[in-house]
Amino acid sequence: MPAFQLRKLAVFGVGLIGGSFACALKQAGAVQAVCGVGRSRSNLERALQLGVIDEIASDAQSAVAEADFVLVAVPVAQTDRVLREIAPYLPPDCVVTDAGSTKQDVAMAARQALGAKRRQFVPAHPIAGAELSGVEAASPTLFRGRLVVLTPLDDTPSDACARVESAWQICGARVTQMTPKRHDQVFAAVSHLPHALAFALVEMIAKRPDAQELFSFAGAGFRDFTRIAGSSPEMWRDICVANREALLSELSAFQAALATLTEHIRSGEASDIEALFRDARSARDHWINGGK
Ligand code: NAD
Repeated sequence: MPAFQLRKLAVFGVGLIGGSFACALKQAGAVQAVCGVGRSRSNLERALQLGVIDEIASDAQSAVAEADFVLVAVPVAQTDRVLREIAPYLPPDCVVTDAGSTKQDVAMAARQALGAKRRQFVPAHPIAGAELSGVEAASPTLFRGRLVVLTPLDDTPSDACARVESAWQICGARVTQMTPKRHDQVFAAVSHLPHALAFALVEMIAKRPDAQELFSFAGAGFRDFTRIAGSSPEMWRDICVANREALLSELSAFQAALATLTEHIRSGEASDIEALFRDARSARDHWINGGK
């Protein structure tokens, strides 16, 4: 049995991330009971059947009663609402974390919704996931070897951070820290921009009169590039709205990069095109090989 033990974990949003977190802690024997709260009764019943949760709570009050750990794993625009619902009932020894893909909005929601209880809240973002949604996609191994970024508020106590860090470590993750602002800039570039591009590309093709013919010839390259356009529209809508400023700046940078490539292609300068592709390939190889 691990040294880190939870009495009762309450998971708001028992989907891919919330379900995987619950499964990982259960598999490690680190939690006695998991209580799930959600919007969709059928998803919660499935979570119960799968053994991901042990009970369904009908409201926030009963969910957090006796809980010593709360995970909020809902689309980011719902975070404020969930924090407001739990705020009056949070036991003093209970730590709260989230899994949201944006962090400045979550930090603001915590300040506004939790008041003094914000000191019990440690914002977090697991850099693991998939284009799949819902509890059916949950896996106890999802976070193994993956990074989790904590973005503590100015006054988040270190013992609350340490508890959240321990929970993610039990899930097999490595934990690091960043400011919410830097987090949102970094993930705008390497996550939010590529998702926006994948959605836009598929939409552009789908809207054409010859879309059916085009899709019928699309191969592995198209599949790889657009895999993430299979992600939850609600989740990505919320991320794009929440991180609008940083994402707009990355979209501008991308438009400039595309303009450069377009110009190389228009002028027929094969050597410029090749040099750009070589640089990009070598940067990608370097990243894939862990910077070696
Ligand atoms: P998901 O769609 O699989 O699960 C979200 C669950 O939240 C659903 O079951 C939904 O019914 C429930 N929900 C929505 N609003 C709710 C509310 N007000 N109260 C209670 N439950 C509610 O999504 P997911 O992939 O698990 O994502 C959850 C969070 O994790 C999001 O904030 C997302 O940004 C973040 N995240 C996702 C990934 C990924 O790759 N999927 C990776 C890292 C972080």
